Amino acid sequence: VRTIEVRELIAQAGSSKTVVIDEPLSDDAATGLAKLELGAPLHAELTIEGVVEGIFITGGVSGTLALTCSRCLKDFSRPFEVHVDEMFVIEPTEDEYRLDPEGDLDIEPMVRDAVILSLPFSPLHDPDCKGLCERCGGDRNLGECSCQDESTDPRWDALRSIDFEMHDADAG
Ligand SMILES: [Zn+2]
Ligand SMILES: [Zn+2]
Repeated sequence: VRTIEVRELIAQAGSSKTVVIDEPLSDDAATGLAKLELGAPLHAELTIEGVVEGIFITGGVSGTLALTCSRCLKDFSRPFEVHVDEMFVIEPTEDEYRLDPEGDLDIEPMVRDAVILSLPFSPLHDPDCKGLCERCGGDRNLGECSCQDESTDPRWDALRSIDFEMHDADAG
């Protein structure tokens, strides 16, 4: 995302303008199983306002996320929309963004933070996703596999814990 020229708004409390951006981020916004869809445009409509302290930005950012289902590992995409309202000042504190005194406003860190905050921690391709079989790795959304009964039989849990303890003893 290119910078926005805001020179005319700095120290002009009450002046404002609206910008529309349709560009992908230049740096990745990604975490864990979620990221911005590669090459998919990011759409932002922002109101940029000169205030006494600096520049105030409010508006909406939308786009497409590329996600991996946390249960069945299937890739899928999903649209997102986030709201931003942030202060840009020349000497920012933790909750603020840096304002270049020359008036070239870099909104990318703000947009990236907003996108990352909107990323789901455990994305599901479907809220009812059945996930993968713990024993054979088969996709249980495609049908039950033949080992299904054994893996849910509580008697196997007891056998598994015995096996685990024996490995422990070997290692020690
Ligand atoms: Zn899934
Ligand atoms: Zn299975």
